[in-house]
Amino acid sequence: MIPFNKPYISGNELLYIRDAIAKGKISGNGYYTKKCQSYFEDRFGFHKVLLTTSCTDALEMAALLLDIQEGDEVIVPSYTFVSTANAFVLRGAKIVFADSREDHPGIDEKAIESLITPKTKAIVVVHYAGVACDMDTIMDLANKHGLFVVEDAAQAVQSFYKGKPLGSIGHLSAFSFHETKNIQCGEGGMLVINDEQFAARAEIIWEKGTNRSAFFRGEIDKYGWVDVGSSFLPSELNAAYLYAQLEEMEDIQEKRAQICQEYKEALSGWAEGLGIQIPFIPEFATQNGHMFYLLCKDVAQRSSIIAHLKSKDILSVFHYLSLHKSDFFREKHHGPELPQSDRYTNTLLRLPLFYELDPKAVISALLAYDS
Ligand SMILES: *Cc1c(COP(=O)(O)O)cnc(C)c1O
Repeated sequence: MIPFNKPYISGNELLYIRDAIAKGKISGNGYYTKKCQSYFEDRFGFHKVLLTTSCTDALEMAALLLDIQEGDEVIVPSYTFVSTANAFVLRGAKIVFADSREDHPGIDEKAIESLITPKTKAIVVVHYAGVACDMDTIMDLANKHGLFVVEDAAQAVQSFYKGKPLGSIGHLSAFSFHETKNIQCGEGGMLVINDEQFAARAEIIWEKGTNRSAFFRGEIDKYGWVDVGSSFLPSELNAAYLYAQLEEMEDIQEKRAQICQEYKEALSGWAEGLGIQIPFIPEFATQNGHMFYLLCKDVAQRSSIIAHLKSKDILSVFHYLSLHKSDFFREKHHGPELPQSDRYTNTLLRLPLFYELDPKAVISALLAYDS
């Protein structure tokens, strides 16, 4: 059977976990946490990085840092994972959902300005499949209206917008190291703080509302409770595991991008004949081999392709369901139809994609589908 995903293993995970144990400090913010954080700061020029236990946690930290209050409005694409919105709902925000682009599942930058009101506090963008949203337009809008921008870069490790690393553009950004992502440690994530005004407080919120990090650096002689916070930092065991993956970043990314390229070359003609679209990458964006998807003609065609692949023991899966139509949110939605979000809900189909995959079997199974 060909699964949809298989977590990448570098082979050095146990070595580093054993080393973390030998170092005698298993809780967070130790040797491997610092190594992972520095890796991202040095490599991508992120101002400050804090490892978290998930991207969800990083988004919740972002909502705390932006001091989101009851009634504040936050603009979020409807076609995304629940955490993108939920992190702000937990702080009492009113979520205002935006539609996706017609040519890409990312937020439609032209749909944002009409959603801005005096209560709007932030715009959250999602770089779907690791492909950038139009960040210049979005940052200009945010600056014009005095808003913060949070990048949900969960899928966007080592991908770029006009040459800038994703995660380095918004005021704050969140990444995921969940086992379904390119670089993974089972459950994990990180918060990127690009706006210096949030750096000191981020560390406090990360350490349960205490100034323990400053204490460990010898900057103060005792630590205590100075702000709100929670337990957002992962243990050294997770960080050690993650570091083993970071060392193989080039190889992982190259291999995944190559699989995407194989899919693209082999399937373009076939897809066109059936009215299926393959991923479009805007000229300002790169892709990072996170995902290869098909946009089917309609939901019936998608179901039939899923069944066809399943009959050949290949698992393909659809993705998000428009959040504005979810059981939790439907009654709270401000009203307008979001047709592109609904279209991706009904037609997007993700093909197997993982480091060890030889896509040939998936490709030949698809080429045999012609109804
Ligand atoms: C995976 C993902 C998340 C959640 O990441 P976790 O690390 O599982 O919390 C959030 N947003 C997007 C866009 C994702 O793809």
